[in-house]
Amino acid sequence: MKPANKILVDLSIAAVQLNPQIGKVNETISRAKMLLNQFKAKLETRDGNKNVDMIVFPEFALTGYNFMSRDHILPYTHTTKESPSFKFAQNVSKMFNCYTIIGYPESETESKKILFNSAAVVSPQGELIFNYRKSFLYFTEDNWGCSENPKQFQNFPLIFKKKGRRVGNMNNEPIDVELNTSIGICMDLSPYKFEAPFNDCEFASFNLDKRVELIICPMAWLHSSSVTKQDYELDNDSNNDIPKKLKNIENVLESQGLPIIGSQSDFQLDLDNNNKTARIPTGSSDIGHTYNELSKPDMTNVNYWLLRFLPFLQLNVRKNWAARKSLSNIFEELNRPSYMGTSKNKYWEFANRNTIMVNANRCGVEGGDTLFAGSSGIYKFNGREDFDMEELTKDDNKRLDSTNPSVELYGNLGKGKEGIIVRDIQFEIER
Ligand code: GLN
Repeated sequence: MKPANKILVDLSIAAVQLNPQIGKVNETISRAKMLLNQFKAKLETRDGNKNVDMIVFPEFALTGYNFMSRDHILPYTHTTKESPSFKFAQNVSKMFNCYTIIGYPESETESKKILFNSAAVVSPQGELIFNYRKSFLYFTEDNWGCSENPKQFQNFPLIFKKKGRRVGNMNNEPIDVELNTSIGICMDLSPYKFEAPFNDCEFASFNLDKRVELIICPMAWLHSSSVTKQDYELDNDSNNDIPKKLKNIENVLESQGLPIIGSQSDFQLDLDNNNKTARIPTGSSDIGHTYNELSKPDMTNVNYWLLRFLPFLQLNVRKNWAARKSLSNIFEELNRPSYMGTSKNKYWEFANRNTIMVNANRCGVEGGDTLFAGSSGIYKFNGREDFDMEELTKDDNKRLDSTNPSVELYGNLGKGKEGIIVRDIQFEIER
């Protein structure tokens, strides 16, 4: 640690949560505009930063997600610059003078031979500055012949003007900062094809090893009461529970006076820096797996996402792993310098570093069976290992979730409402 080289970065980051339905792009764009207008008005009167530096939209933010075939998706695919989603993002960037990240279905060329699930990064001036293609695909992408990102996970620089101050020299003029940034689209956070060993934590380890400081995740992540392909595959069993699950989705929405597609236009605008998410441990009886209380986050998912970033979480037990000789075989086998956060040189590679993560997840229901989890949120992995251990449980197994003090929960939207969350965040980088 060389404190003289530390820079304190101040950013204001927003995540948008939408419930887009296939075939209703114009309707979704209208609602999104309404939401953004309300957000802009509120932003000007809020207690805190009156500007935003970055707005993140979900995976397939405007088109809907659950496409059944190649023919089904083709009318919604475009080359990046021809994509209505990209054009929409350009307007958002100009409206807020900020970066906009948006998920959309991409065709590599106009012939529409090769298709990707992509996210475009648009500068405050409306220029395309990066295009990321999803690397790890979900079952749904198989339906329409999506290709994997041939470059796999990628990191890239994102420049924020006058957003840094040198630590120890706080009276100085703010300086430009170039953040080491990456994008993970939903399944990128999961084990490859759900077949790789869970503990490989591929995406998190990539970010750790590349020293990424800003992780942006556009998502269409499912709620646990959704019906999935796995359910349909088990359907030949006599004791399948698909009809029960479908009926449950219908009932739960009906009991809240909502149509089968879920809530739209009943916006949740959360601009309150003090409205931090309460930490609820996995397995707690307060956690609730039911799809109700739509303006509260689904903590089962929040905990799971944080578990997927295990290399970024402080764990006492890692000291024991570091002592294991067999670890070097794993580094070699996986061809990477760290495993579950432990590297050759350090028991916890992330110690004393900071990384920000933004999840923009969609909400609502598609096709009556696919239920999304919403709960978009903003987090800081603070790299701290200096907690007062007397005050914390010493049992690491109880800290593999939102209760781990090395992750700070700035806030989350609810599981089922369209909306925007914005937070003023502060973190340190080394240069
Ligand atoms: N693992 C994610 C899920 O189960 C994948 C969904 C996606 O890639 N959109 O919801």
